[in-house]
Amino acid sequence: MGTVGERRVYDVAIIGAGPAGLTAGIYAARSGLDTVILERTAPGGLAATTFRIENYPGFPDGIEGPALASAMENQARKSGCSIMGYEVQSVVPPGSNGRAFALYTAEGRVESRTVIVATGTHEKQLGVPGERELRGRGVSYCATCDGPFFKGKRVAVVGGGDSAIAEALFLARVATRVTVIHRRDSLRAGRHLREAAMVNDRIAFLWNTVVTAVEGSETVERLHLRNVETGETSSLDVEGVFVYIGFVPNTAFLAGMVRLDDAGYVVVDESLETSVPGIFAAGDVRAKQVRQVVTAAADGAVAAMAAERFLAGGAARPAGKGATRAWPLRS
Ligand code: NAP
Repeated sequence: MGTVGERRVYDVAIIGAGPAGLTAGIYAARSGLDTVILERTAPGGLAATTFRIENYPGFPDGIEGPALASAMENQARKSGCSIMGYEVQSVVPPGSNGRAFALYTAEGRVESRTVIVATGTHEKQLGVPGERELRGRGVSYCATCDGPFFKGKRVAVVGGGDSAIAEALFLARVATRVTVIHRRDSLRAGRHLREAAMVNDRIAFLWNTVVTAVEGSETVERLHLRNVETGETSSLDVEGVFVYIGFVPNTAFLAGMVRLDDAGYVVVDESLETSVPGIFAAGDVRAKQVRQVVTAAADGAVAAMAAERFLAGGAARPAGKGATRAWPLRS
């Protein structure tokens, strides 16, 4: 299989163009490194599908997610980083005489001396009857993308975290009624979002409740529900259901390559280096406590600077942590 892209061997290949990958691209390219970002869909990641981001510094009135994502993409391109539309299917380390990692896509191979994994996460599904069949016909995982179709309609949001409540607030601007269905009796979402939702008279809550099926002939018509405390079953007539019950890391293509934790997130050290020297991970895809746009961007900067140190022959890991490289860095 041949190589794709104009250059044979990059210094840094970043997989994923969300806030972590774009920031890594900005830092790496500005350091003079040949940098490419490989993205299977559109740049921006989850930030691009978030209606409004109110806690990213520098925007006291908040900023729409797509606008922030697009500004990051422009900045990455302006910094000299190229962004290519390829899905990476596997990463192969340099052989004993090799000089670079090979990143395989369906169209060909990209070679790079270091790799930053910034592939983020994808939405967790309910796994109930009707969900898959009615996806795109009332079942959605993106309120920003699909919410406008529900103007004047009744919708449900499943979940009790930041995503569910932020998107319920967005949907309440267009839908007549937004019912938040949560499996417990208190929200996981932060205080700011919680309080805003509680006082919104278009938002109602169904506590201790799970969805057992999504029903509809052509499009979603109703949800079947079960109260987890009483076992009582009921149904709720809605035209749409937005599922926000957490995320799953996009790491299947790395299986057996770098160390993952039990949930599939990439395990890194404090310089964001993975178990394989020369491969770094940044943003939501790595094992960590806080997943915010600002922490993803910060990760991108840290990973790019660690990759730069690695390429310069210094240890990416802080002194004493013992990074050893098993292959030559430059041919
Ligand atoms: P999350 O924090 O993991 O919350 C998932 C929610 O879904 C929880 O309320 C959970 O219930 C519920 N849930 C999980 N599995 C379920 C199932 N099978 N059936 C029904 N309910 C289920 O996910 P998230 O809200 O998407 O947030 C992900 C990360 O992004 C978090 O770190 C969050 O802080 C961050 N984020 C931040 C913002 C922000 O503005 N600040 C916005 C969006 C996301 P339990 O509570 O019972 O576990």
